[in-house]
Amino acid sequence: MATFRDLLSQAKASITEVDTAAAEGRLGTATFLDVREPDEYSQGTIPGSIHIPRGQLETNVEGRVLDHDAEVVVFCAGGTRSAFAAKTLAELGYTNVVSMAGGFNRWKDESRSWKVPQSLTAEQRNRYQRHLLLPEVGEAGQLKLLDKKVLLLGAGGLGSPAALYLAAAGVGTLGVVDMDVVDASNLQRQVLHNMDRVGDRKVDSAKKTITLLNPDVNVVAYDTRLGADNVLDIIDGYDVIVDGTDNFPTRYLLNDASLLKEIPVVYGAIFRFEGQVSVFHPYVGPCYRCLLPEPPPAELAPSCAEAGVLGVLPGIIGSLQAMEAIKLLLGLGDSLAGRLVAYDALETSFRTFKMRRDPDCPACSIPKDQIRIAEYDDLCMPHPIAPPAH
Ligand SMILES: [Zn+2]
Repeated sequence: MATFRDLLSQAKASITEVDTAAAEGRLGTATFLDVREPDEYSQGTIPGSIHIPRGQLETNVEGRVLDHDAEVVVFCAGGTRSAFAAKTLAELGYTNVVSMAGGFNRWKDESRSWKVPQSLTAEQRNRYQRHLLLPEVGEAGQLKLLDKKVLLLGAGGLGSPAALYLAAAGVGTLGVVDMDVVDASNLQRQVLHNMDRVGDRKVDSAKKTITLLNPDVNVVAYDTRLGADNVLDIIDGYDVIVDGTDNFPTRYLLNDASLLKEIPVVYGAIFRFEGQVSVFHPYVGPCYRCLLPEPPPAELAPSCAEAGVLGVLPGIIGSLQAMEAIKLLLGLGDSLAGRLVAYDALETSFRTFKMRRDPDCPACSIPKDQIRIAEYDDLCMPHPIAPPAH
């Protein structure tokens, strides 16, 4: 029977070892894989490392290191567990793996860079388990979400589903701007609120619902009307804005302010059985004024108070807005910048229209210091459903 020493020397004979200096030379290009136990990892690791304890290596590595030909530097505390891990990785078909001799202890003794990793609590690990299973999100992505700030304009039909899903996903800070009170006629679609909250401020009701759903989320309530006097202060510091407003003056105000602050806006609009979603990403894609340079004259804008809407529709459009917001926060996939998706509920069809930046746009083609933050007349939203001209 082989002893431990025999197994270790067999493993070391079959793998490549590098010293700490050679490993350090691979920072930035190679994937560093820490195979120590969670309590060792939590006290410090090499910045940017992936952590998979040795005992979970076979089951987890293929979900975390997708490319079998990727350059991988495995390390543990002293170089023994990483030697066995490197052998296992070769057996799993990884072709470019080295084990770091001396391990993290030698690395640290030689004063090479290390840091205490941020990590999720046990409750968070359980709550976000289905995110952690996605290699595209994982613990690093979840920590990123917990660190991000999204501003919701409106706690109404679009803001409700967006707020619920962003809160459930663990976006750490949600700002909510709304100056209305909950009315029973809102409950047909505004699912943040309920019968007990009729007559309450919408921002207070939103805060209660979100906090009950996920105590990780810090809710910042703005019980105020968004205007030229406060828009720049309110949106400052947010990573993404989810636009659930229903009127032209606010959309133009928001557009111009978001250009100044360079904050992407996830746009949503609903009318009867039709909805639209897009992303206005300042100076990356078109802005709202590239589509509609100026608000339409008042006589062409129907009153939004009288327009009907099927209650499920904002649920669909607001959920798409939440998804686009998460993609922007994590840098996942292709955002809707430069595209407008139009949903027709009666046909059950989604149509995508390409939109380009207008070189003559009155907002995003001029120098930033010429952008004027001004109020428009109080028109209501006609929800342009026709595809944009370009
Ligand atoms: Zn523009």
